Amino acid sequence: NADLAMYKAKDQGRNRYYFFTEDINTRLLDRLELEANLRYIIVRNQLYLHYQPIFDLQTKQLVGLEALVRWRQREDHLRMPGEFIPLAEEIGIICDIDSWVLATACRQLPEITGANGPRLRLALNISPKQLEMPKYADFVQEQLEINGLQPDQLELEITERVLVTDIPATEENLKKLCALGVHLSIDDFGTGYSSLGYLQKYPFNTLKVDRSFVRNIAAHDNAKRLVETIVTMGQGLGMDIVAEGIETEAEETFLREIGCERAQGYRLGRPAPINMIKGLLQKAYPETE
Ligand code: C2E
Ligand code: MG
Ligand code: MG
Ligand code: MG
Repeated sequence: NADLAMYKAKDQGRNRYYFFTEDINTRLLDRLELEANLRYIIVRNQLYLHYQPIFDLQTKQLVGLEALVRWRQREDHLRMPGEFIPLAEEIGIICDIDSWVLATACRQLPEITGANGPRLRLALNISPKQLEMPKYADFVQEQLEINGLQPDQLELEITERVLVTDIPATEENLKKLCALGVHLSIDDFGTGYSSLGYLQKYPFNTLKVDRSFVRNIAAHDNAKRLVETIVTMGQGLGMDIVAEGIETEAEETFLREIGCERAQGYRLGRPAPINMIKGLLQKAYPETE
């Protein structure tokens, strides 16, 4: 009996070992395949953009769009940024992606709004790596000029993470972008575990309250007070507040009542392809063509 038990344990052990290695191999292969495909993402023209509408919470007017990148790896296989942006940062191709996004979104904005359309603000997400690129600010200026956009129509969203590092190129780019009049926005505020010292250093125009805070306001009074405090602090420092991830009427009402300027979220409008955004605009501004 003892022999039999040992035999079973060994057998199970061997099985476990087998499944374990297979799992590791699969994940490694997945990653290698992803990495190999990621390198050709631009030349194969597999990127495209969705835009999420941003509303003035007080007037309920559509005032901006956030460009969100998507990867059409195959016709039947679309990938969200969470699946490839971290790896793209790791293997050093994020700058190619972010540059493509900037050029494409700046070109598409006039196409979306039309010649006599509303003056919308375009929000773009910028990787820390992008800001380390020398002359990045010049590239931004060039793209604005080519497409006839005013600098304050562009809002670059930067996560707090970036701002704790003291890389000279990053500082120079941020200073130049400020001087140019491009708006700078702190994305996912409150999730970066960073000190608030950077708020004194750069004149940020906008603070985006992360969805994780917004999500809790219905259930917890403390979460309400926290959001209220963030809004008051941001406004006290001269920033506009954008609330992310509004999903319910209660969230929308609460944020309006505490004086939050702008908001985005599934309740107000999901990220959508350019043609759907054009349709949305025609409804919001019927007098434009
Ligand atoms: P983010 O900048 O915080 O963008 C907001 C994310 O929340 C988007 O996810 C959006 O689809 C999602 N979202 C918006 N409203 C709601 C809502 O009401 N409920 C919920 N559950 N989600 C909502 P997405 O498109 O998957 O993007 C994820 C992140 O990927 C972005 O977070 C941004 O950090 C990054 N990202 C997207 N595009 C780019 C890009 O072009 N370059 C870089 N470097 N990063 C990007
Ligand atoms: Mg963002
Ligand atoms: Mg965000
Ligand atoms: Mg967020």
